[in-house]
Amino acid sequence: MNILVINCGSSSLKYQLIDTNSKSVLAKGLCERIGIEGSKLTHEPVGKDELIVEKPMKDHQVAVDMVMKALLDAQYGVIKDISEISAVGHRVVHGSKYYSDPVQINEDVKKVIKDSSDFSPLHNPANLIGIEACEKAMPNIPHVAVFDTAFHQTMPEKAFIYAIPYEYYEKYNIRRYGFHGTSHSYVSKKVLELSGLDPNNSKIIVAHLGNGASITAVQNGKCVDTSMGLTPLEGLIMGTRSGDIDAGVLQYIAHKEGMDIDELLNMLNKKSGMLGLSGISSDFRDVRKAADEGNHRAEVASEAFVYRVAKYIGSYVAAMNGVDAIAFTAGVGENDGAKRAEICEYLGYLGIQLDDKQINVRGEEALISTPDSKVKVYAIPTNEELSIAQQTFALINK
Ligand code: AMP
Repeated sequence: MNILVINCGSSSLKYQLIDTNSKSVLAKGLCERIGIEGSKLTHEPVGKDELIVEKPMKDHQVAVDMVMKALLDAQYGVIKDISEISAVGHRVVHGSKYYSDPVQINEDVKKVIKDSSDFSPLHNPANLIGIEACEKAMPNIPHVAVFDTAFHQTMPEKAFIYAIPYEYYEKYNIRRYGFHGTSHSYVSKKVLELSGLDPNNSKIIVAHLGNGASITAVQNGKCVDTSMGLTPLEGLIMGTRSGDIDAGVLQYIAHKEGMDIDELLNMLNKKSGMLGLSGISSDFRDVRKAADEGNHRAEVASEAFVYRVAKYIGSYVAAMNGVDAIAFTAGVGENDGAKRAEICEYLGYLGIQLDDKQINVRGEEALISTPDSKVKVYAIPTNEELSIAQQTFALINK
């Protein structure tokens, strides 16, 4: 069955057409600069030449129509008729407390996505625009929302509650939600598959380390804690995000620099993390290069990143009273053997031993610990699109 997976940003639209029987991608692509000068569609059909269309896309509807045209194109297309698409799976960032599973989209679901925009102002409105554009283009098939927050809905209250007056939770649903749920779910299931651990008696920590980064503790297949919070700002040091910070810092900087709360949040989301610390780049490769050349700020950024990851892993070992396996995923986790090794250096107390021959694998599923390591350590490429396609397939075939 062919499922179209859509991931909309405010000015972009990523898509993949996936055959869920063979788990293969038929075509994927990206619409960039939607609503801005210089719009471009890059369409990559598997086994055929790439198609690039540079044409104004005034809104997401135009983008979706161009994607459909490319998928159906005689030369660059991969399907002959729109009826070959059975459903659309939409990545939606925030589902608030309402959705712990994928859901077929109707007016009520759209209202929740809209109402959750307060918690995800950059993503949820764009997700909704994408949904409505796809509904117009493909009105006769199911559209399914797969939420980034869903996998984390099993967190117990002691893990998701903020220690601020309880009335804010009651009145406004202010609590920790967590993100990257599709990735954490996919990778933790892969660990179960690869390790042969009993799903009902397993303790797994997934470290999704990319430009956005988060860690999740998964006990018996269910999320029991995760590092991101109400928004994706909490937790680890990221490409441009600060992660955890004492709120007192904000008051101090606000007074000294005359910044308001929106400016402070912009600083924490876009100018902090690896970029803010190093002053060089948000890209881990650039920071590594500068650190290797002796740049002090780049060294501090790299060390602080690793240290925070190791501290979170330690806290999740405590939360689950043990750990059977740790998995690294996303851009850094999948590719950067040195970072994985630096993090694991802090974890000797767990009896972790890395396999020197495997530690530098890139972009492939691999056990990177030795056979006698007490805790198994994996590198696992995440595949959020395949996971969204599979979850969409499962829902519509229930
Ligand atoms: P993601 O957000 O998952 O796409 O991850 C993006 C981050 O992964 C960027 O900061 C890249 O620097 C980092 N990354 C990608 N490939 C590598 C690599 N080979 N070595 C180190 N970091 C990498």
